[in-house]
Amino acid sequence: MSIEITGEILPQESKELTSARYVPEDEGEFSLRPQTLKEYIGQKKAKENLSVFIEAARRREEALDHVLLHGPPGLGKTTLAQIIANEMGVSIRKTSGPAIEKPRDLAALLTNLNDHDILFVDEIHRLNRSVEEILYPAMEDGEIDIILGQGPSANSIRLPLKKFTLIGATTRSGQISAPLRDRFGVILKLELYTPEELELIIRRSAELLSIGIEPSGAEEIARRCRGTPRIANRLLKRVRDFAEVTADGVITKAVADDALTRLDIDRLGLDNVDRKLLRSIIQQYGGGPVGLDTLAATVNEETVTIEDVYEPYLLQQGFLTRTPRGRCVTKLAYEHLGLPFPMENNRNDGQIKMDF
Ligand code: ADP
Repeated sequence: MSIEITGEILPQESKELTSARYVPEDEGEFSLRPQTLKEYIGQKKAKENLSVFIEAARRREEALDHVLLHGPPGLGKTTLAQIIANEMGVSIRKTSGPAIEKPRDLAALLTNLNDHDILFVDEIHRLNRSVEEILYPAMEDGEIDIILGQGPSANSIRLPLKKFTLIGATTRSGQISAPLRDRFGVILKLELYTPEELELIIRRSAELLSIGIEPSGAEEIARRCRGTPRIANRLLKRVRDFAEVTADGVITKAVADDALTRLDIDRLGLDNVDRKLLRSIIQQYGGGPVGLDTLAATVNEETVTIEDVYEPYLLQQGFLTRTPRGRCVTKLAYEHLGLPFPMENNRNDGQIKMDF
């Protein structure tokens, strides 16, 4: 049985440039992945906590407690899992929720782990129920129940497992069932990165890829990559193409600005889909509130894509607010799109009046 990471593969379109999801073009990103906690930029809180837990587990010569990593795509969950394995000096086996179809697939994975090994399950919220139920005793008591035979003669035996660490990654922690969530000893939330952290990531990647870049060029890309390292690395490679063809190969602020503008990424990192989203809330729903499903149908995107990929950055930038009745745009969104802000909505906090 071979189980691989099955990152969602999207069709090649220009909007992929700013999609935080993994696409085949990111293949080279593996060489850009930091290998140690020290090299891993940003996520200060998660990193500090992790280094204590890793050190403690190492001193006690125990397996690390099970870890759940959650946050939007492209923020470094897979990278962090690999780093934990490196820091613990153990092997890591990578798979994903949808790839484990049957309980016996998971049983095979678990029984093949050695002492203290890590099993990394990406998109853990997509595990099916019957598979998830095998995980409970495995995580809690270090054993699994295996059914031998079929029909009336079927027999259930308990099989002890080696002490292992499960690292689960998810973009939607709300979809993880309570019994599964409760079995993780360490739960870490990854946040969107600051422009300063992204600038460091871009400069590091430029060095690894031998790309000439001025600090102001890195700063420009950092401001326009939606707080996401995966997008930062992708934009860096595209801007390099422009630098090589239209300039002398070095990414300056002017080259980065020109390239990103040509790629339809505006000065705050919003792409066509972001702008379409905001514009439809304004023009078709009077600024909101509008339900997520309705919005998704209007802009012809999947609800999960809007929630996982687009919304986090729009919320962080203050263009969008979430209310119990749906999504609303803020005054900032009108200003950014150059649309007139309706006077009747003119409240001090800049948010749109909800009761209409
Ligand atoms: P996720 O699993 O959350 O979707 P990944 O771990 O695949 O994200 O990260 C995407 C890419 O971003 C990686 O290839 C890596 O090069 C880069 N990256 C992520 N986090 C960091 C970080 N903290 N420092 C440097 N590069 C990072």
